[in-house]
Amino acid sequence: MDNFSPSDYWKGIVLYGLNAATYKMALAKCLLGFAKTGLDDVPWDRVAASFYQEYRQRLHENPMPQMGMRGRRTVLERIVQEEKGGLISRPQAIEKVCNEGLNDVVPRFQTIGANADIVRNYFYEMEFGKSLKLKDTLLTLGENEFDELTAEVTARWGLLEGAFSISRSQENYELANDIRYIYLRQGDRRQSLATNIPFLMGYQGNVCFYCGEALVEDIHVDHVPPWQIVRHDEVWNLVLSHGHCNLQKSDKLVGPHFVQKLIARNENIMGSNHPWKKKIEALLGNNANSRATAIEHHYEQVKIVRGPDYWGGSKGYNPETDPFYRRLVTFLNNPDNP
Ligand SMILES: [Zn+2]
Repeated sequence: MDNFSPSDYWKGIVLYGLNAATYKMALAKCLLGFAKTGLDDVPWDRVAASFYQEYRQRLHENPMPQMGMRGRRTVLERIVQEEKGGLISRPQAIEKVCNEGLNDVVPRFQTIGANADIVRNYFYEMEFGKSLKLKDTLLTLGENEFDELTAEVTARWGLLEGAFSISRSQENYELANDIRYIYLRQGDRRQSLATNIPFLMGYQGNVCFYCGEALVEDIHVDHVPPWQIVRHDEVWNLVLSHGHCNLQKSDKLVGPHFVQKLIARNENIMGSNHPWKKKIEALLGNNANSRATAIEHHYEQVKIVRGPDYWGGSKGYNPETDPFYRRLVTFLNNPDNP
């Protein structure tokens, strides 16, 4: 487990978690902010003030539910509401956050999924109620990767809010699907597929599916078994690639190594708590083996239609050196790893 970078561990924390509420995202943004300014010993009330500010701004700009359970609001939502309604002052609001807003999130932040050992005290040590001591692992991220990681946390925060507002409606997943199809009928299809980009990015290790290089701009959403054949936009079959890689691939059959990669990418989604996990489960099966078999079956069907000649990937692509396989999230979700 020593081969992973601080950035890998960070993404593991942000992408995988029980995430019953958005607390983790708010704290992640605060931590990156402290690290960026080189603040390594952060008093508790300073953490509370930043944490409160994140929520205050978020709820002001675009009010969305911050937790999944119907009819419930997070402590932070209530405090922001109280200040807004003039019941308490700003310093009183921050004091409340200090006393009751950080109790769960600060001790629990350094976990990946349900695993509390793997990143215990990796980014900070806490003296509960007093201070956070940030470690070099975090300070380095703040110095070198602040923009990218902050953008990722913000995207993830938005996804959680979207998921919570959907899970609060009655027919959770079906509704999500209906909304998507209405969208597809009404709008430009490519545009609606582009809404999957922030969702898919992290699970794909932030690299192009077909060449393994970083994805920064000109990002296309591609169907692995081609849309011309499958005629659906199910998320299990969508990947991100560079525009030029997508053009090279076109509607060709991909090599079997990309099918294995698609299987691994979908397991990365299955390891998380996003509502589309349920959707993929319903379509492909409730365990890793049946999902792999289902995808391989689709592949065989496409092969029958397209013939056995396949495209092996962008020039120079080699699965052995693909960073996707070296990401912590991929390692953790590989059913062959202990
Ligand atoms: Zn590419």
